[in-house]
Amino acid sequence: MKNSKIYLSPPHMTGKEQLYINEAFESNWIAPLGRNVDMFEKEIAEYVGAKGAVAVSSGTAAIHLALSLLDVKRGDRVFCSTFTFVASANPILYQGAEPIFIDSEPESWNMSPLALERALYDAYKEGKLPKAVIMANIYGQSGKMDELMTLCDHYRVPIIEDAAESLGSTYHGKHSGSFGDFGVYSFNGNKIITTSGGGMLVSNNEIILEKARFLATQAREQAIYYQHHEVGYNYRMSNILAGIGRAQLEVIEERVHAKREVFKMYERLLADVDGIDFLAELPETRSNRWLTVFTINNLEIAAEPFEVLKSMTEHNIEVRPLWKPLHMQPLYLGTPYYSHSEHVDVSEQLFKTGLCLPSGSNLSEIEQVRVVNCLKESLKGAKRKEGIF
Ligand SMILES: *Cc1c(COP(=O)(O)O)cnc(C)c1O
Repeated sequence: MKNSKIYLSPPHMTGKEQLYINEAFESNWIAPLGRNVDMFEKEIAEYVGAKGAVAVSSGTAAIHLALSLLDVKRGDRVFCSTFTFVASANPILYQGAEPIFIDSEPESWNMSPLALERALYDAYKEGKLPKAVIMANIYGQSGKMDELMTLCDHYRVPIIEDAAESLGSTYHGKHSGSFGDFGVYSFNGNKIITTSGGGMLVSNNEIILEKARFLATQAREQAIYYQHHEVGYNYRMSNILAGIGRAQLEVIEERVHAKREVFKMYERLLADVDGIDFLAELPETRSNRWLTVFTINNLEIAAEPFEVLKSMTEHNIEVRPLWKPLHMQPLYLGTPYYSHSEHVDVSEQLFKTGLCLPSGSNLSEIEQVRVVNCLKESLKGAKRKEGIF
């Protein structure tokens, strides 16, 4: 009998989602907007400690709105983490602007302050500073926000914090996504909480958030007839999906706890394997451990990550490579890029040596033991194939 499939980070319903959906049905307030949307916005803002929030159709839409609100136009520059999902950067292209990618640093795997400093300095000298810096907080770990923010403040460049993967994570006690001029969350199916699809834009500037709501509803003006001065988008979240989000948000702390437990269990069960380095939690941060991720130290293990991935996939276990850096993507070929230091490309190294393990908050202990046993076997098998030892 074939073992059932173990997914990377599947949706984890609470059972209470239906209550909020029913509320919307009973009032016949299905779409778009309504009480669930208003409440979901309030509840997220309260949870992360932001003044306000705007619920939208995806995390990508939230990033796009943030760029629009910062008046990013054709020919403008925007800096962006290179070690992230493509959705962090694509809205730069939607605006006709020019991305410049910034490498990671080795401790948090997030934006390198050294690379950012060089990039900002060069841009300043050219008289063409970026209109925004998009910083991703990857796999639930916050970047080195103090250093990064000091640099952006110095050059007065606004920050868009892509916290799509890090809802519930903190840095010095403050929520990931609440540091930048804008914060972005995603409720895509595999994120720590989900609305099946959706996103949130947060900020401490309520006037700007009102403008975000306006742009997200086709930039339709207050008039008897349909009146428009600007290009808008159809980006608002439906009242049904916001209902799912409200039930999910009620258990966010439990979900963070469960994901952290999944991580601890991997750490314990793999303690006897030399050469596996997990993404560390920076001091004074709490990671939501959205995914348990690690790199293989090839001085100790000869296993090639993609061989390990193939072997585990054959056993019906979903394992993924780490993000392929955006400066290596065919889509972004030729885009300027600043590495961590002159001779060290942290993100390229991570991509070549790392993997993501199944990390659902609903992953059972039995499933996790199966993943670990399969990983240990795959590491050995891949080693034999390489024939290095
Ligand atoms: C998931 C994700 C997004 C995109 O969110 P969607 O809701 O799927 O549009 C953006 N950035 C990062 C880092 C993500 O992981």
